[in-house]
Amino acid sequence: MKLIILGAPGSGKGTQAEKISQKLGIPAISTGAIIRETVAEGTPAGKAAQKYIESGNLLPDDVIIAMIEERLAQPDCSNGYILDGFPRTLPQAEAAEKMGIEVDKVLSMEVADSAIVERLSGRRECEACHTPYHVLFNAPAKENVCDKCAGRLICRKDDEPETIQKRLNVYHTQTEPLKEFYEKKGLLVTARGHEEISDTTKEVFSVLGI
Ligand code: ADP
Ligand code: ZN
Repeated sequence: MKLIILGAPGSGKGTQAEKISQKLGIPAISTGAIIRETVAEGTPAGKAAQKYIESGNLLPDDVIIAMIEERLAQPDCSNGYILDGFPRTLPQAEAAEKMGIEVDKVLSMEVADSAIVERLSGRRECEACHTPYHVLFNAPAKENVCDKCAGRLICRKDDEPETIQKRLNVYHTQTEPLKEFYEKKGLLVTARGHEEISDTTKEVFSVLGI
């Protein structure tokens, strides 16, 4: 099975990609995670990537396409994979076809913008151990202090309110047209994001027929 998951930032596509990955035993490939690893390395390429992410912009298509080509050449991708975060623009979708990527389905995660703003703006992360929290849905015992290591909780730069709005705009203008692109090919299925992760997973498995 080869799958693409589309969805706004904070739509929960990464979480669902992991659930599908566990169920089917195929890797979930997250471009966001690969990029954050590059940023953590602190190389010139990583520093350049950080500027794009923190401003809410997408990285250049050619950078992402090269990254995906390299990742899909790894042996663990031979039985299928889930692409979480790629393609995110029409040129990327066209490049994917040129690379010979043939997916079985494209899953779009549908979540209202208002819910996304609430989710992302409340997200926090431990500065030291990176454990994720949420001020409403997963609060630490003591405000702004990590339960695990007593580290300070911070808001990621890309989760600051103006950047969230920018990322949503980028999603609607650059990524959402991909729904029509794949709809025309008869590949698109959609699932709504529910409050409970397990409810969302049920719907996702059902629309994928897995
Ligand atoms: P989110 O879906 O919450 O934005 P991701 O982890 O998927 O988080 O991506 C984080 C950032 O990485 C994006 O905001 C963007 O800057 C960059 N990025 C990820 N995937 C792509 C892509 N396919 N094309 C361009 N930029 C990307
Ligand atoms: Zn911590």
